[in-house]
Amino acid sequence: MYPRLVIDLKKLKSNLDAVAHITKDEGGCSLMIVTKGLCADKEMVHVVADHPAVDFVADSRVKNIRTYADEVREKGKKTVLLRIPMHDEAADVVRYVDLSFNSELSTIRLLDQEAGKLGVKHSVLLMIDLGDLREGIFYQNEELIFQTVEEILKMENIQLYGIGVNLTCYGAIIPKNDNLSNLTAIALKIEEKFGISLKMVSGGNSSSIYLVEKGELPEGINNLRLGESFLLGNDTAYGTKLPGTTGDALVLEAQIVELKEKPSLPIGEVGVDAFGQKPYYEDRGIIKRAIIAVGKQDTDIDSMEPVDDKIDILGGSSDHIILDVTKSDTEYKVGDVVRFTLGYGGMLKTATSAYVEKAYIR
Ligand SMILES: *Cc1c(COP(=O)(O)O)cnc(C)c1O
Repeated sequence: MYPRLVIDLKKLKSNLDAVAHITKDEGGCSLMIVTKGLCADKEMVHVVADHPAVDFVADSRVKNIRTYADEVREKGKKTVLLRIPMHDEAADVVRYVDLSFNSELSTIRLLDQEAGKLGVKHSVLLMIDLGDLREGIFYQNEELIFQTVEEILKMENIQLYGIGVNLTCYGAIIPKNDNLSNLTAIALKIEEKFGISLKMVSGGNSSSIYLVEKGELPEGINNLRLGESFLLGNDTAYGTKLPGTTGDALVLEAQIVELKEKPSLPIGEVGVDAFGQKPYYEDRGIIKRAIIAVGKQDTDIDSMEPVDDKIDILGGSSDHIILDVTKSDTEYKVGDVVRFTLGYGGMLKTATSAYVEKAYIR
């Protein structure tokens, strides 16, 4: 059935080989693979959990992690929760998650209590904000960082596993040697002040991996967390393709339900479209317009690219996308399937939509 997301597990495996090589062999870092971009798809998780280079398997949602916690732990790897936990989920966090990212003492206290009830030790990574302005204690507020560490160290069931940073998400700030060096400096200060050693100094996501290749990852960063670079092969700092990866491990396929020659300009007074936006139309004269049975409910039309590069995406609404197939070398007809590679947004929505089937290439 269409629409469907075709997941090539062999290509995902070779993407994983490639990012593992950069991160571990060249970068000397431990490897955390992030599963949220594909909603923790089970077959993808098998590939990740089976890979000998993967040390941690992470997601932003406990609901995803609980589907694979047993498998990942059996294979000797740790589960990681990336999003700062809700108070409400503390009990589930200590059950399914080995290491959670945190920035709020009140939440860490709850994790301590729940870990005590369950009779486990829970590890936390304290997030430091280096200027991207999403989660973490602001790096210039060293007093708050030290106070928080001091309180964590008093807790009976919590281990301070390390510190970390997230960049290029909200503020689109690019990781560099100089901003990441602030993180390694803070790590050293914590270790000296409290006489402890931090196991992990986590230097970011798929936007940090390019620093390895440039030889600019600061000494002291010993972990990277990779989602998009593994799934789509992207270095997300500058939008380049990482060596040895491919961007077509995931392909969205949709079927043509109407194909007609019509004008390219709508006729009548222009108001707003189905999403309240004022559309822009280019006059291409009479064109061949194909409607495919997939829409904004299933994907992000700004984050998908036809494999046939002579097709243009004209627009869409909830359940339809309209394509200009005039220039294509293929004589499309109703019933034909059109294929698209995806960007991060397209991948995320496609994997989340209950209307998109999944198919696997093994
Ligand atoms: C989503 C996320 C990642 C992975 O990001 P990619 O750009 O997909 O590599 C890493 N760390 C945190 C905290 C995240 O939320």
